[in-house]
Amino acid sequence: MIYYRNIETFLIAQHMKSYEKLLVQNKEWADQKVDQDPEYFERLSKLQTPEFLWIGCSDSRVPADRITGTQPGEIFVHRNVANLVINTDVNLLSVLDFAVRILKVRHVIVCGHYGCGGVKAATTKTDQKQVLNMWLRNIKDVYRIHRSELDAIKNEQERYDRLVELNVQEQVMNLAKTSIIQRAWKYDQQPHLHGWVYGLKDGIIKPVFEMTAGTHIDELYEYDNL
Ligand SMILES: [Zn+2]
Repeated sequence: MIYYRNIETFLIAQHMKSYEKLLVQNKEWADQKVDQDPEYFERLSKLQTPEFLWIGCSDSRVPADRITGTQPGEIFVHRNVANLVINTDVNLLSVLDFAVRILKVRHVIVCGHYGCGGVKAATTKTDQKQVLNMWLRNIKDVYRIHRSELDAIKNEQERYDRLVELNVQEQVMNLAKTSIIQRAWKYDQQPHLHGWVYGLKDGIIKPVFEMTAGTHIDELYEYDNL
């Protein structure tokens, strides 16, 4: 929600189409930034040195910078349905490669969230039609890997919450399986990998899994000639 400094702008915005409001609000936001700090955009346009890569869910209720209190320039962001790290996803791998090799981020954070619709959909037998079925299949695989733990949880909500956490854990491990991460671990001793889950009901992020740079994984996935 934007605070309008100008009553005329506010009144005009009331009669606009929803997408036009975004442009008006953008202008308000930019003007406010310049009011507070005249060099703000000039400085930001010349430099991008984020310390973090954020891999989050596309869910509109989980905006990376808002919930972490960070500013533009601080977090490099990739988002997709249910925050998945898939080893054939050229989009995600390009972001990862750029963030790790060029920007030299020190931390990669996979942040899921309780109440994730993608994770929920994957636990049902409903046909979500092609493409979504393909995507969500990866979460069914997470369930299968952790089936004994999950099936032992009788409360449905708790089981679903735990699957959200395990999904984040598996995605962090998927990061560690890439040669992009393994090469950076070998030569730069970074980035550290973090698995977090955000609570829609309380706004709190819970760390659930971590891999410090250089952690050994199943040797099946380790490259020795990087
Ligand atoms: Zn989600």
